[in-house]
Amino acid sequence: MQDWPLLVHKVLDHAATYAATREIVTRGIEGPIRRTNWATIHQRSKTLAKVLAKRGIKPADRVATLAWNSERHLESWYGITGAGGVYHTLNPRLFPEQLVYIVNHAEDRMIFVDLTFIPILEKLQAQLSTVETYVVLTDAAHMPATSLKNAIAYEELLKEADADFAWVELDEKDACGLCYTSGTTGNPKGVLYSHRSNVIHAMAILSADGFGLSNADTVLPIVPMFHANAWSLSFSAPMTGAKMVMPGAKLDGESVYNLLEDEQITMSAAVPTVWLMLLQHMEANNLKLSTLKRVAIGGSACPPSMIEKFEVNYGVEVMHAWGMTEMSPVGTLGSLLAKDRKLPFAEQLKIKSKQGRPLFSVEMKITDDEGAELPRDGKTFGHLVVRGPAVSSGYFKGEGGNILDADGFFDTGDVAMLDADGYMQITDRSKDVIKSGGEWISSIDIENIAVGHPAVAIAAVIGVAHPKWDERPLLIVQLKPGADASKEDLLKFLEGKIAKWWMPDDVAFVEAVPVGATGKIQKLTLRETFKGHVLPTAGSAAAE
Ligand code: AMP
Repeated sequence: MQDWPLLVHKVLDHAATYAATREIVTRGIEGPIRRTNWATIHQRSKTLAKVLAKRGIKPADRVATLAWNSERHLESWYGITGAGGVYHTLNPRLFPEQLVYIVNHAEDRMIFVDLTFIPILEKLQAQLSTVETYVVLTDAAHMPATSLKNAIAYEELLKEADADFAWVELDEKDACGLCYTSGTTGNPKGVLYSHRSNVIHAMAILSADGFGLSNADTVLPIVPMFHANAWSLSFSAPMTGAKMVMPGAKLDGESVYNLLEDEQITMSAAVPTVWLMLLQHMEANNLKLSTLKRVAIGGSACPPSMIEKFEVNYGVEVMHAWGMTEMSPVGTLGSLLAKDRKLPFAEQLKIKSKQGRPLFSVEMKITDDEGAELPRDGKTFGHLVVRGPAVSSGYFKGEGGNILDADGFFDTGDVAMLDADGYMQITDRSKDVIKSGGEWISSIDIENIAVGHPAVAIAAVIGVAHPKWDERPLLIVQLKPGADASKEDLLKFLEGKIAKWWMPDDVAFVEAVPVGATGKIQKLTLRETFKGHVLPTAGSAAAE
């Protein structure tokens, strides 16, 4: 067979040739909706690649983006990789000192930045020693006065060349993209995707048991391109030449709803917190969805109540997905096995609430503390370890040393169960699991049930020190605006739904549960806040 390297710009060539006029729609930061198509995106990406090559970007050079999902961001990725460079996504929700660390560590030569984020970079640029040029993702008419070094509007930059450019020749194992994980301890670590890993991952995800995309789909990637490759949609959607809709900066319930309806979206992907805002908006205004067929939900556990609402109230199929930056990012997807499609909905819901089965190319198992494999029996918890061609083998510049075991498996840091059918269920991050009297309690299980209470917006469960049991669960609740519920109401709601010894010892109410840069509840912050919390059960236990 031929040696045809798996390069991401071949994906764009394909879309431009076979789906030339299929649209890419962007809600621009500047306001209006912009419309383009795959042929134009291809031409402009080639133009950008030529400009970058002329400006001295060489293979393997890192060029960063600090931007919302837009057609210009998409062109930037393809233009950068087409010049042989590495697109490096910066997450604007990170702390400034983390951004400074990441840009310097990656040695980014240029940063493509949305109007929204100019003030962040203006404050930091004195510390960003490797950045030579800032490209503002706008046109001359909207270009603000800025102190950013060598700042130029993106549309002006494109005028520096034409589209007559052959993509730089590369090996499929060459670096393509870079994304840092927002680790809760130590410095962020870079995950460097290759062209090959991005292409293989996108092909794997396209299967009908994956995102099941086709040219007939209209895809709305709400999950940001700056978070774990937008779950591959920037590569998998153009493989089919689907229509893409880029939501820009407005991710509130009303804005997302309007895009879903106006652009007739059939498939979308986002973290649970975004879907929560949409569901609340639709419920409050008695709205329905007319074209949406499937949503992918992941990044943190999707509560069963959310799956039920989408499927029963709105007729939208939920694909519960699990993955991580180190896995390109998707590892498992909640597509039902043939035998489970005949089950009553209540039974299916139990399965769909798990994190799903591995995509082809992902191997996984659970192990004990010594690395011995544990049974796939649906009840044993263990460390979830994975292996595959789109799984990281180490961090950028070797940070953190060797991350694989002797058999090449990467420890995800998640604790999970696997069942005999291959469905995987995350019980916790290993550092969040609650250790009570030597046994483990899954915080995610309790949160999933608590968030089904009609008054609860967000529920978080953490372990709090206990004199007898080491740790006991504390349920922390953010109520929906205007809603009311007492500690007793919530405990009553949980009763009978979880094992007695899993029942939280106390409930605390907060204005806002802290949510981090990638939509995850910040358990570390909560553990700090509630460090001194005295459980009502602690006194009696101490006296025993
Ligand atoms: P990130 O690298 O930021 O994408 O974070 C990856 C981590 O998010 C995983 O290791 C899990 O702990 C968590 N995660 C992602 N998807 C899910 C899910 N569907 N259910 C529970 N946790 C999830």
